[in-house]
Amino acid sequence: MPSSNINRQWRLKTRPKGMVSEANFEYREEPIPSPREGQILVRNLYLSFDPAMRAWMWDRPSYIPPVGIGEVMRASAVAQVIESKKPGFEAGDFVVGAFGWQDYAATTGGGPVPVTKIPPGVPLTWPLGVLGMTGLTAYFGLLDITKPQPGETVVVSGAAGAVGSVVAQIARIKGCRVIGIAGGKEKCRWLVERARVDAAIDYKSEDVGQRLKELCPKGINVYFDNVGGETLEAVLNNLALHARISLCGGISQYNAEGRVPGPANYLSLLVQRARMEGFIVFDYLPRFGEAIAELAGWVMADEIRIEEDIQEGFENIPKTLLRLFEGKNLGKQLLKLADPPIK
Ligand code: NAP
Repeated sequence: MPSSNINRQWRLKTRPKGMVSEANFEYREEPIPSPREGQILVRNLYLSFDPAMRAWMWDRPSYIPPVGIGEVMRASAVAQVIESKKPGFEAGDFVVGAFGWQDYAATTGGGPVPVTKIPPGVPLTWPLGVLGMTGLTAYFGLLDITKPQPGETVVVSGAAGAVGSVVAQIARIKGCRVIGIAGGKEKCRWLVERARVDAAIDYKSEDVGQRLKELCPKGINVYFDNVGGETLEAVLNNLALHARISLCGGISQYNAEGRVPGPANYLSLLVQRARMEGFIVFDYLPRFGEAIAELAGWVMADEIRIEEDIQEGFENIPKTLLRLFEGKNLGKQLLKLADPPIK
């Protein structure tokens, strides 16, 4: 059992207006919970940071309910089981689940994505990134929604992030010409040199519409949209006939106050007989196993190269969420809380 009985937590204090800030969260110390029958007690080791967490802070229904004021902030995490009163789990097991911004959680392991055990030998951070929700989002959002064909031109926004970097590399594996859009020279260099995409556009210093015109003279066949806003508008102006757009996210709008303008040129979808389709990765739960196996194969074969930004320190948890909206992360944003307590 843990040497102290303190469970540190960050709880949602207020709902953000505009950009989320550290002041929206409150630090608390509670006793470590005791697991009831059917529950496990886990110690968090790595926290995942996901743009969707901003949407969970709104007081409006989405694909899952918002986090309530005063509740521990919801977050995925990799943890170790400290005590188990649930069949199938033992002290020492490594697990992934929605354990929240705290050191310890007692849980039955239910929810939209049930708690799962991490097989031995898998690096502990991967089930939060390339072999977890972000890798799976890339896999299904690209392959299932857009069905990219060899030789087609695929454009990805948020391309140096957790989802986008995997999308770009799967598109390359599938024989497509890949153009990544990201913020800053360093991310663009990473995309070309490490992720081996054909070209990268720095949306912070380049005219995205102009560059897309130059780089895609025959138009864009597939667009994987992580950001929405002006980038989506620039892509819509450069679509090929029968283009497919996977609507994965719209991070440029998550912190917006009031009404956000839609793309004025959405009728290009009509003119180009194009299709734009949204998806939620949880809908693919029954197929997660097959996707994880294929993603793992690509990582082991050096076909997909992963990048992780691992912050440290319990006090830095709220600040680390902000990194996503400041564009500070390259690859998957994580925070390390502890080494495995049970050796
Ligand atoms: P991420 O890309 O690793 O991190 C967020 C990145 O977004 C930042 O690094 C930043 O990169 C970019 N960004 C931030 N503010 C921006 C702005 N105003 N305009 C343009 N870009 C901005 O995050 P992720 O976890 O991989 O998520 C990527 C997207 O996938 C998000 O939209 C998320 O909501 C979505 N998602 C959807 C599903 C689903 O089921 N549909 C599941 C998971 C994730 P730059 O430096 O390049 O600006």
